[in-house]
Amino acid sequence: MDNFFSSTDTQDNTPLNAQYDNLKDNYEKIFIEAAESIRRELDSFKPENPCENCPVKDCKIEKKDIFAPYPPNCKYRDWQLQALSFLAGDYKQKLKAVYKNMMDKKNNYSCNKCAACCKLAASQYSYEQLKQRAFRGDKFSKDFISVFVPFDTEEQAKAVNPEYFELLNKLVEEDKIYYYYCPKLEGNLCSDYENRPDICRDFPHNPLKLLPSDCSYNAWRSEIAHEAMLLKAKVDIIDFYGSKLK
Ligand code: SF4
Ligand code: SF4
Repeated sequence: MDNFFSSTDTQDNTPLNAQYDNLKDNYEKIFIEAAESIRRELDSFKPENPCENCPVKDCKIEKKDIFAPYPPNCKYRDWQLQALSFLAGDYKQKLKAVYKNMMDKKNNYSCNKCAACCKLAASQYSYEQLKQRAFRGDKFSKDFISVFVPFDTEEQAKAVNPEYFELLNKLVEEDKIYYYYCPKLEGNLCSDYENRPDICRDFPHNPLKLLPSDCSYNAWRSEIAHEAMLLKAKVDIIDFYGSKLK
């Protein structure tokens, strides 16, 4: 299944895109909420008592759970296959609409031109790795290196925005993180505004992304935070179903 949270972001599924606030602590609760909601959808077309007329004798499956190892001629196996196509089809479309709605809400907010996102950007990839990814066709990496260059030292990056630097560091814990800045910034203004790439135009492009505290889109993130985490949990759960039921 497409991961809505990584489709436009090279930092897909990394801690850099994880919510850094209380919601992270609540993720278990949100994950259970998502799992129950999916389970309800699948139970709505679960067959009722198909075992009475079953051609397969003595299958010995006690608990008729969605993940049980049903044999090919079993009606519950049909249910599993139906569940797979439902999750990859109608349900995926439903989640896509939720995601779009969430991203559309961003239009209710506007950039306050603090330039914090131009002064300090982070990636789990080194500049060389980004160049290789761009060479292999990764659009985000291509856009990223078209504007950002690496800081010479971490101290320089930290000096730009110590609070954001610390939060990013805390988020990745043991992993390596690389810091970048855009040399096209003059004062707080973009010197190449008309030609700025999509990563600048669309920022923030991921509702789970940690933003600098000055960024006015933090209000958008707060508004949709629960919805975004719930959606992320559903996407992860659907991937799990896909790997278990195929
Ligand atoms: S190109 Fe302009 S908008 Fe994009 S990061 Fe650089 S200064 Fe900021
Ligand atoms: S950090 Fe947010 S508010 Fe500041 S310039 Fe970037 S997008 Fe605009």
